[in-house]
Order: sequence, then C-alpha cells, then structure tokens
Amino acid sequence: MNQETPKQIAILGSTGSIGTQALQVIAAHADRFEARVLTANHRWELLAEQARQFKPAAVVIADESHYEPLRDALADLPIAVYAGADALCQVVESPEVDMVLTAMVGFAGLPPTIAAIRAGKPIALANKETMVVAGELINGLCRQYQVPILPVDSEHSAIFQSMMGEVSPIEKIILTASGGPFRTFTCEQLETVTPAMALKHPNWDMGAKITIDSASMMNKGFEVIEAKWLFGVEPEHIQVVVHPQSVVHSAVQFADGAVKAQLGVPDMRVPIQLAFSFPERLQSDFDRLDWFTMHDLTFERPDTDRFRCLALAYVALHRGGNAPCIVNAANEIVNRAFLEGRCRFLQMADIIEETLQRATFIKQPTYEDYLQSDAQARRIAAAFLSSSFNV
Ligand code: NAD
Ligand code: MG
Repeated sequence: MNQETPKQIAILGSTGSIGTQALQVIAAHADRFEARVLTANHRWELLAEQARQFKPAAVVIADESHYEPLRDALADLPIAVYAGADALCQVVESPEVDMVLTAMVGFAGLPPTIAAIRAGKPIALANKETMVVAGELINGLCRQYQVPILPVDSEHSAIFQSMMGEVSPIEKIILTASGGPFRTFTCEQLETVTPAMALKHPNWDMGAKITIDSASMMNKGFEVIEAKWLFGVEPEHIQVVVHPQSVVHSAVQFADGAVKAQLGVPDMRVPIQLAFSFPERLQSDFDRLDWFTMHDLTFERPDTDRFRCLALAYVALHRGGNAPCIVNAANEIVNRAFLEGRCRFLQMADIIEETLQRATFIKQPTYEDYLQSDAQARRIAAAFLSSSFNV
C-alpha cells in the first residue's frame, strides 16, 4: 500500500554517518519519503549542499557561529535557516513533520527528542545516548503522548524484527557485539593503543564517537541499557555475545527455547529504511548475504576484565536513577579526550568509574536533574582528566 504523500522526515544530524545514509534512503525512495528538516552541528557547507539537493523546508546549524555563511549560501532558496540548540527543538515540532530521526551524537540529542515526543512525532532512534541517559523518562513520555520509537541501532532493529508477530514475552535477548578492533588484545597491548588504531573498526564505518565507544565496548554497555528500556527486559536477561563477523545482528529467545535472529550484511541503511517504512519493507539494492562465503560465524563470551567500560555500564544499570546519565557524561569527556590524545585507552574506564563514585546520586531524577547530573559529571571527569594525565 503506497502512501499518497511522502512521509516528511526531520533528520537531526544529517551530516553524520547515520544522517547521510538516511538521505541515501530518502533519495532512493523519493516517492515515499522527503527530508523536511535537516540539521548539523558545525558542517554548514555539507548542510547547505544537502539542502540544495533535498530542498527541506528548514535547516538548523546548532553552532550559531556558522549561521551567517549558511544563510547566505541558501539565500536563493525558500528554506528557513535557523541556528542554536533551541531551534533544534522547535523545528521538530512543526505540524508538517511526520517522523524524527535522531542521528545526533550524545546527550545533546535528549532535548530535541523530548520536544519531538511532546509534539507527537514518531521517533526513529539512532541517538542511543537519549535512552541511556533517560530511558525511563522517555518511555513515560512515549506512553503519555502515544509515540512509537522505531530503533535504528542495528542490534535493536534486529531484536525489533525478531519480535514482529510475537505475542509472548522475551525470555532472553542475545545482543551481538563485533568486539571492535581490540577484541584479541591483551591488557598490556591495550595500554598503548592509539586513536588511529581505535578508529579502524573491522565491520562498520561510523562516526568517531561511536567508533571509539565500540573499541572500548562502552557502546555495547550502552546498547544493553538501550535494550532494557526499548524492550522492557532486565539486564539479567540480556546476554552480550561477541560475534566478530557482524552477520547475526542480534536475536531473541522465547519461553519454548526457540531463537529468532535477524541476519544481514552490515549496512545501517537497512535498519534506517525499516524505521522509515515500518510496517512495510521496501525494495533495496543493498548487498545481499552470500551464504556460501560465510564459512565461520563465531560466538564468544565478552571479557569485562579487559573491557571494563562494559562492566561499568552494568554497574550503572543496576544502580539505576541518574547513574547511567553520569556514566554517559563521563564517557563523552574521556571519549573526546582519548580521540585528541589527552587520555590513554585504559584510563577511560578509570575516570568513568571515579566520576560515578563522586557524582551526586539521584534515585528518581527529573529532566532538570538529568541536565544537572550531566553537567556535574562532565566537570568531575574533566577534573580527573587534567589531574591524572601527565604520563
Ligand atoms: P556522526 O558523528 O557521524 O554524526 C553526528 C551528527 O550529529 C552530525 O550531523 C553532527 O553535525 C550532529 N551533531 C553532533 N553533535 C551535535 C550537537 N551537539 N548538536 C547538534 N548536532 C550535533 O555520528 P553517527 O555515527 O552518525 O552517530 C549518530 C548517532 O547514532 C549516535 O548516537 C550513535 O551512537 C548512533 N548510532 C550510529 C551508528 C552508525 O553506524 N554510525 C550505528 C548505531 C547507532
Ligand atoms: Mg549498534
């Protein structure tokens, strides 16, 4: 069944890895989807180029210092140009927007996601940090405003797809992880890994932040938290399984022991497109699995001694309240510092752990509490960083 008018999609973070792939999906299905709003943080030239091609009604550049060149670059087109973080929240509320893809990085995705939910917009969720920080709050708002969340993260899309048509509860989620570029490294080797080494992900080409998180396995820890909130499953029933080939994107086990998984070539356009078209599946020319070249699909237990960030995510999950928000904020600080050569790889977990101990714990945080916890944890992590990084 074809919709009469194309679905109007707002892409928060259109210049990033997920954002640009989402635009490929939109371009391939111009009869079904249109980019209504495009936004970026700094990269105004690319944003202007995208706006020329996709002709959205509005664009937002979050970093206000790029407002004027962006406005001038688009002066000949009927496109509204805005700047600043508040504008991100306002543009998603437009009555013409049918769906919001949250493809921004980090805590910054939380306010516009909340604005979109309050405006009743279905969310295609890539920005996992939103669920990590405030999953309970987001779920409450989604219930209140009757807004669905369509997962874009490949594992969560796989779980979602494995759940399609099921009416019985999940016994266990099998959350697969590639293990990242350092899967086989010893602790000694991990001492000296560089950002360049961490940025070479074996299977996925992603933005820098998530690539570093994948190398430390903090990404998988965040995905456990994301899965808890998206699927209502407690951490004891979420099994992380290292699967270096990234063919099985995740699986669900049911009460009778049956396991359903979703498989495919690693390509984020598949979950992005499904989030846009759900419940339909659309034709694609993406690569297909070649069953006769997949000789070894292997599965291993994750090692939380070497990958302590994964263990810390579980600690935060069990502690609850604002603990995941604290871990997320500290992680954003050390992730950036590692990328810029200001923090060693193994030091990231130390600083996150110390920040979790020092930051104020709040059992039932409000939205305001999350904002304050995020700011406090960033301050604490930054202070640890500057006092400890001298070797
Ligand atoms: P990216 O760094 O490639 O792109 C991020 C986008 O967000 C850019 O358009 C950037 O301009 C914008 N942005 C960043 N910070 C911003 C801010 N403070 N305010 C406004 N805009 C901002 O990142 P990505 O890899 O595309 O990841 C985006 C999100 O999707 C992340 O939350 C990530 O965890 C999640 N995700 C990504 C992948 C992937 O394959 N890349 C897979 C699963 C989930
Ligand atoms: Mg993922």
